[in-house]
Amino acid sequence: MVRGALWLIQVIGEGKTFTKEQIRDAFPGISQADRRIRDLRDYGWVLFTNSDDATLLAEDQRFVKAGVPVWDAAARRAAAPQKAISNKEKQAVMARDDYMCSVCGISGGEPYVDDSNQTAVLSITRRETVLPDGREQTLLVTECKRCRAGSDGHPARADEAVADIRALEPGDQRRLLRWIERGRRGSTALDRAWNAYRRLPADARDEVRASLES
Ligand SMILES: [Zn+2]
Repeated sequence: MVRGALWLIQVIGEGKTFTKEQIRDAFPGISQADRRIRDLRDYGWVLFTNSDDATLLAEDQRFVKAGVPVWDAAARRAAAPQKAISNKEKQAVMARDDYMCSVCGISGGEPYVDDSNQTAVLSITRRETVLPDGREQTLLVTECKRCRAGSDGHPARADEAVADIRALEPGDQRRLLRWIERGRRGSTALDRAWNAYRRLPADARDEVRASLES
C-alpha cells in the first residue's frame, strides 16, 4: 500500500488517470497490487472509477487526491480503519485468555467479589501495546465490562515490564521466569512464612511478633 501510494504521487500524479495494466507493470509479481491501492481509500485517498466519474473509461481510474501519508507509520496508525473483530477471532482470543478478564482475572458470568449482584461480561478489546523493543502494536485482549470501563486508554507497556523485571535481584528474576513458564505464581519461602504466621491464633501471633522484635 505504501509503495502504491508513492507510485501514485511520483509516477502518476494527482489528477491523472491510470489503468490496472499500469499497476501490474509497476508492481510485477505482487498479487492484488490493485487491491492494495484501493485500500488507500480507507486512508482518505480519493480514487475515482467510471462509476464515480462517467467521463472515465471502464479500465481507467483517476488519482484525484492524496490522503493520509501512509508511509509515515504514526500517521497511518492514527488513521487506521478499525475493522470489526470477527467472531472466529474473538473465540480464539477468549480461549487463549482462558475465558478470563486479562486485567482482573474474573471469569465470564462470575459475580464480582465486592458486588455479587453484578456478574462479569467478557468482551474482546483492542489494546495499544508498546513491545519490549519499543515497537507499538494494537493487540487483542479479553476484558470484563468493568475493567474496560475503568481503562485509562494508556498503552500497555511491555517495555516497562521488562525493565522492572531486569531491576529485580537475580534470584527473583529466576523465580519469576519459572512462574512465567508454569503460567502461574508459585509460593516463595516468604509467602509460606507469612501464611504460617497468619494461620496462628491471635495470641500466638502476638508472641511471634514479640519474639521477632526482641
Ligand atoms: Zn476485569
